[in-house]
Amino acid sequence: MSAEQNARGLVLVVEDEPAIADVIRLNLTKAGYGVQTEADGLRALAAIRNLRPAAVVLDVGLPGLDGVEVCRRLRADEDWTPVLFVTARDDEVDRILGLEIGADDYVTKPFSPRELVARVTGVLRRTRGPAAEEPRTVGAVTLDAARRRVVAEGIEVELTATEFDLLAYLMRRPGRVFTREQLLSEVWGYAAVVGTRTVDVHVAQLRGKLGAASPIRTVRGVGYAAEDVR
Ligand code: CA
Repeated sequence: MSAEQNARGLVLVVEDEPAIADVIRLNLTKAGYGVQTEADGLRALAAIRNLRPAAVVLDVGLPGLDGVEVCRRLRADEDWTPVLFVTARDDEVDRILGLEIGADDYVTKPFSPRELVARVTGVLRRTRGPAAEEPRTVGAVTLDAARRRVVAEGIEVELTATEFDLLAYLMRRPGRVFTREQLLSEVWGYAAVVGTRTVDVHVAQLRGKLGAASPIRTVRGVGYAAEDVR
């Protein structure tokens, strides 16, 4: 599993029918997402809390805890991970929409895999914000996502694709602290079990290239944030 293959983020797929779960996993993987699967509601809830996925594809009809209840508990916890519901029946759609549980979108079975991937991408685009492509500046560093250019103290800096994605992710939310697990999930599309040292290595490389202009602050015992630290 390379960072390039999963650069669009980790998606947790919660589906108790193995054949459908396989189709969803295959298509999301082809589209560049990292994918983890769970087959029941309680395990899904635990996985969302542990893995911090970028988005969740959530079947409504699940053993244990159904999809609507999983989403309701997440939102009650102030967890706003984007959720795309997969429903089998029209009355489930009414339930999802009627309860105002913060569903980001839904597809009804049978769905085309291409449609589902498009919906996941759409949900992520909306929740990550339309301004994601706007150039932004933190301290002495300006990052232009559309052109994939980084300028530090007036000098353009060459970054690898992963270094760029990590810096862009942090700079999009200046001041906000992210754990290594969150960064692995969001930037690499990895489950945290892969190991969080990867994040430290890339932060060290970024600091090496950006020098004194680096806006990345280490928050001890937590993770990293992008800030104007001068
Ligand atoms: Ca089901």
